Amino acid sequence: MELVVATGNAGKVREMAAFLSQYFPGVRVLGLREVGWTEDIPETGTTFAANARIKAHTVAKGTGLVALADDSGLCVDALGGGPGVYSARYAGPGATDADNVAKVLAALRDVPEAQRGCAFHCVLVVAAPDGRELIAQGQWQGRVLSAPRGSGGFGYDPIFFDETLGLSAAELPLEVKNERSHRGQALRHLLAQREALAALLGISPQEGA
Ligand code: IMP
Repeated sequence: MELVVATGNAGKVREMAAFLSQYFPGVRVLGLREVGWTEDIPETGTTFAANARIKAHTVAKGTGLVALADDSGLCVDALGGGPGVYSARYAGPGATDADNVAKVLAALRDVPEAQRGCAFHCVLVVAAPDGRELIAQGQWQGRVLSAPRGSGGFGYDPIFFDETLGLSAAELPLEVKNERSHRGQALRHLLAQREALAALLGISPQEGA
């Protein structure tokens, strides 16, 4: 059985493959490149769920394989929930992580600590070529720091402060980040629907044991 992860990001494919192989060792996880997919998928939705559904269903229909897509981003209270679904391109098309981080810090320059609440969101969608789907989500509450801290992770990690741990997301080892993060939680919620997931993959839940 094969499952394609609807992302061009090799890191995400590795992360998802490692996670899924613990529960479904018989399922081969492939990236878009491995199935020869080159087409760009426009993320035209205004919610994480809408964009994850677009990506999963487009790839499932186009490849004839079960597809897993995720959409994620940072929602900042003081920015009315922004940059949200526009997180990757907040500072414009082709923006780097550093550009996006600088734009958030500038927008929050005069915002006091108590009003700097934020959350990372992640929605995962698994879609079958016949249109069936499963959805799971995760959130990670935090606060936007006033300056970057730490050198790990990616994206907004250096300015995302986990108040429980007293560390930024960029200061966490990957295993700890996965335990706390929006993506880790969404994956756990997906695997909690193990029987429905096995049915969608066309295998028995025991095959994953
Ligand atoms: P996408 O889901 O790959 O489109 O990611 C959207 C954007 O949200 C990324 O480019 C990052 O800027 C941000 N983002 C999503 N997840 C994380 C995370 O775990 N840490 C830091 N930034 C993230």
